[in-house]
Amino acid sequence: MKNIPSIHKSSSQPQKLAALRQAHQDWNNTPDVLTRLTRRLSTTLSLEQHLAILAEELGAIVPFDTLNYRHQIGKQDFVYTTGMGGPHRCEYRLSLEGVNYGILVLHRKQRFSEQELAGVEMILSAAICPIRNACQFIAIEQASLTDSLTGIPNKRAMVDALQRASLLSERHGEPYSLILCDLDHFKAVNDTHGHVVGDHLLQIAAAELEKAVRTSDSVYRFGGEEFAILLPHTPEQDAKDVADRIRSAIAGIRIDAGEKELNITTSCGVATFLPKESSQEWLARADEALYRAKHQGRNCTRVFATIS
Ligand code: GH3
Ligand code: MG
Ligand code: MG
Repeated sequence: MKNIPSIHKSSSQPQKLAALRQAHQDWNNTPDVLTRLTRRLSTTLSLEQHLAILAEELGAIVPFDTLNYRHQIGKQDFVYTTGMGGPHRCEYRLSLEGVNYGILVLHRKQRFSEQELAGVEMILSAAICPIRNACQFIAIEQASLTDSLTGIPNKRAMVDALQRASLLSERHGEPYSLILCDLDHFKAVNDTHGHVVGDHLLQIAAAELEKAVRTSDSVYRFGGEEFAILLPHTPEQDAKDVADRIRSAIAGIRIDAGEKELNITTSCGVATFLPKESSQEWLARADEALYRAKHQGRNCTRVFATIS
């Protein structure tokens, strides 16, 4: 056994520094598998990288053909797989302090021995805290991009998506359209029925918008009573048709608000991405079209026309 200087409160500072130097050298040079694993895991917060590191370190001790990990994080079904098949399997439900952090399954051609299973458990117990942190990081990232009232992506998510869409449209020459949708006279809903009813209506409107569009389209809560819909591979006229469909979906909402039913309309502005423009310019054109819809009577769609 190495003679490692230990750090005591009573040690002098040079002794403490010598002990630290030694510990650092050991830490760097010949780490045992658990130290190396946890050290590697501490270098990243990416769950995907965590699983790649775990697969590598685990596979060096207990060989396997497939590692499969699955975990539902918010709306995201996170799946990670390496390798293919194998009739024998062992399955672990990863949990810490009563909270589930996914299911990990190993497959291979030979049966796993008891010692090997104990080894897998030791390695997983060293990895569980970093895996928990990576799962929580994904959850926090998701929350920062989600509107808490309606559960749909928020303005921050929209700005990112718009930027990506403008790059893709530019690169592939595919049309991408944007619809901005602002509920009409929404202040009056709050004033007449109160904020609780207003909030409820916003939740229903968000759900209706999501139902009214294709799965490849994305709906965002852009502001208070404003929504944005990004439509990949959609030219101007098709986007206008979608906007009109959205307007009828919103007009079809009925809420029982005491004496009489409450209903609402919406105005829509449409703009299709133009080559060379920035995502902000694109958004500004959709906003301009929405402004026209508001000023030309509401409950209508206006397009910032690019086709003469
Ligand atoms: P317009 O037809 O011109 O769009 O009229 P409007 O009343 O919809 O527009 P205005 O901008 O005057 O008012 C927007 C209203 O939306 C005011 C605000 O209280 C309400 N609002 C914004 N965010 C929320 C929210 O999260 N919950 C509720 N209940 N109301 C909200
Ligand atoms: Mg508004
Ligand atoms: Mg409004």
